[in-house]
Amino acid sequence: MTLSRRSVLKGGLGLAVSGAMPARADFSPRAVINDASRLNPTPVARHVALKADATDDVVGRIRKEIASAVAEGRRFAIGTARHSMGGQSIPKDGVAITLTGGHIDIDRAQMTYRVGAGMRWFEVIRALDAEGFSPAVMQSNSDFGVGSTFCVNSHGWPTCYGPFGTTVRSVQIVMADGELVECSRTKNAELFALAMGGYGLFGAIVDAELDMVPNALLEPSYVRMDPSRFADAFTKAVETDPMVRMAYGRLSVARESLFDEALLITYRAGASQSSPLPAVVDHGALTGFSRDVYRLQTGHEWAKKFRWFVEASVSPSIAGAATRNTLMDEPVANLASGDRTRTDILHEYFVPPDRFTDFVNLCRVVIPKAKAEFLNVTLRYVDADPVAVLAYAPQKRIAAVMSFSQEIGPEGEVDMMAMTETLIEGVKGLGGAFYLPYRLHAQRDQVRSIYPRTDEFVAAKRKFDPSLVFRNAMWDVYFS
Ligand SMILES: Cc1cc2nc3c(=O)[nH]c(=O)nc-3n(C[C@H](O)[C@H](O)[C@H](O)COP(=O)(O)OP(=O)(O)OC[C@H]3O[C@@H](n4cnc5c(N)ncnc54)[C@H](O)[C@@H]3O)c2cc1C
Repeated sequence: MTLSRRSVLKGGLGLAVSGAMPARADFSPRAVINDASRLNPTPVARHVALKADATDDVVGRIRKEIASAVAEGRRFAIGTARHSMGGQSIPKDGVAITLTGGHIDIDRAQMTYRVGAGMRWFEVIRALDAEGFSPAVMQSNSDFGVGSTFCVNSHGWPTCYGPFGTTVRSVQIVMADGELVECSRTKNAELFALAMGGYGLFGAIVDAELDMVPNALLEPSYVRMDPSRFADAFTKAVETDPMVRMAYGRLSVARESLFDEALLITYRAGASQSSPLPAVVDHGALTGFSRDVYRLQTGHEWAKKFRWFVEASVSPSIAGAATRNTLMDEPVANLASGDRTRTDILHEYFVPPDRFTDFVNLCRVVIPKAKAEFLNVTLRYVDADPVAVLAYAPQKRIAAVMSFSQEIGPEGEVDMMAMTETLIEGVKGLGGAFYLPYRLHAQRDQVRSIYPRTDEFVAAKRKFDPSLVFRNAMWDVYFS
């Protein structure tokens, strides 16, 4: 189905926005699409919603769209939830596909499942949950697409894992010439390593074969500590206690006491695992309260302190056991804001564990000077990624996922840009990396030095896709 700008707006694909009328009649029907940042309204020649079901010829439909993009000399890009924040899923003046739906086939003997790239994690979790299984790795929120997750090579909070790609057995990709190529660590391995974390620049991912693990009931435990002790405590818990199955950390975010305290939350498999386990449940009333407190933090230092008090002092006594699947099934809507003058922007840094205290000190200097409101930081353990060409964790890292609220407008942008560049430069000095799916605020030389295989990535892109049909804003800004 091709969506005109009007039908996109009426149909409530929340990511589509109003914008300038078509500048040239030959582009009609033309859509303006955006991503979760709400800072990237971009005209596209066509926006095609492709909802796959088990019997669909998804490959044929994608082939057709790629062929017409090539014939018209346009860009082509797929997105699912479009929660990347720098136009990584948007082909300017090109053919934009929003891919959703798909099939899922479970192989109990291999402990794998084959899944359509447009499936979202909340759909995958429900299908696996019914059979007693759980995704090995996915992001902390369940709205995102499986194909996107491979393209950004996400990480999550199940332990002890590297990024998502380390749990991918194979993927099928439609290339620029329409050929369907299967790739894995042993078959077309060069393409596998490029497409993993390759932001769709090598082809359209249509399905993937992924590792799964048994679902389990997990019990939380909270330990409060000085941030200087965090890296050791975190790596020790995750690496030496086999009962720890999920883990994350938090740091206090009020400006005057930024990163003064850390919290380590580990989830262990309890001794009694009821059979069957309780079915995955939607998050309930407490989430509404948490969201209200979370949103109140913008402009209110007392709310940041109150949230820390709830998290560090109240949660440990009220948090109960939950299944792995319920913990992973967290919707992004839980963080939603109704304020249309501001937007939430994520940053993420991957820090060598032995430089974690230096990272804390860097943030203490840089972040309080910014106008952006710092809402949250979550810390994750990410094991080494030996495969992806654009690897952000070539060795094990502590990931710091940070959320800021910024004003929508030039001042908000300038402030965010300056803070991002400074943090990236500081993290570069610590031997760490920044994550690519967010705002495109790194300088090109920062990208090159933090991702040292950039030239190889760009040369391979030109080899596999000589007409450069697979392009998005990140290609233009960082790699073109
Ligand atoms: C609230 C929030 C929490 C997050 N938490 C985490 C986290 O815990 N861990 C983490 O690693 N990341 C996290 N992220 C980042 C997130 O993983 C990425 O933004 C991811 O891209 C979101 O998936 P999506 O479906 O929205 O991707 P999209 O933005 O739709 O696409 C991302 C990229 O993949 C490409 N792509 C998508 N599907 C295909 C396909 N089938 N074929 C070819 N190319 C394709 C797109 O063109 C684009 O380049 C978070 C983001 C947000 C907003």
